[in-house]
Amino acid sequence: MQADALEVARTTKGFLDEDEGTRLYELARDHASIGPIVEVGSYCGKSSVYVGSGARTGGGTLVCVDHHRGNEEQQRGELYHDPDVYDDEAGQVDSLRFLRHSIRRAALEHTAILMVTSSAAAARLCPDELGMVFIDGGHTHEAANADYELWSGKVARSGILAIHDLFPNPEEGGQAPIEIYRRAVASGNFDELPTVKTLGVLRRK
Ligand code: MG
Repeated sequence: MQADALEVARTTKGFLDEDEGTRLYELARDHASIGPIVEVGSYCGKSSVYVGSGARTGGGTLVCVDHHRGNEEQQRGELYHDPDVYDDEAGQVDSLRFLRHSIRRAALEHTAILMVTSSAAAARLCPDELGMVFIDGGHTHEAANADYELWSGKVARSGILAIHDLFPNPEEGGQAPIEIYRRAVASGNFDELPTVKTLGVLRRK
């Protein structure tokens, strides 16, 4: 990955390990020619910089889907709340300006399309036959399963479904992401590729 983009990713707020990010970059680069790449849950753009840089190198497009009001763990009083990412006037989380800043710094304004809306509304508008879908949105059982149902069928043959925050040990993290990963495997529609830390990677058959 280009050094300048990597530096942007390193200095962007977020919750993504560099090895995971580098793998996302490679996956996006190698599958961008199949179809658009969708990221569900962009927040301030840390993963968007990795995925978008890969999409750009591969000659494709990244669609960043996020309502930017924060997930359940980012609300006031919750574990991952960041007061910087809060709009006092609106009385709500607002990560959009951070994402836009990251996209500009990484020179991805011609690669990334920002969809500021719910996952469900975005899925209604996005085409089928996606080159890759990266699910890193809400981590409740309900939100993660909804994202799986909305997006997994849109991955083109030979395309990638990547899921963040897999914790085989329940004491290390929430179980919703690994639950949908297992659902995808059980569907018989995907082959498992090696996991990178907490990043699960599946290839559509
Ligand atoms: Mg995550």
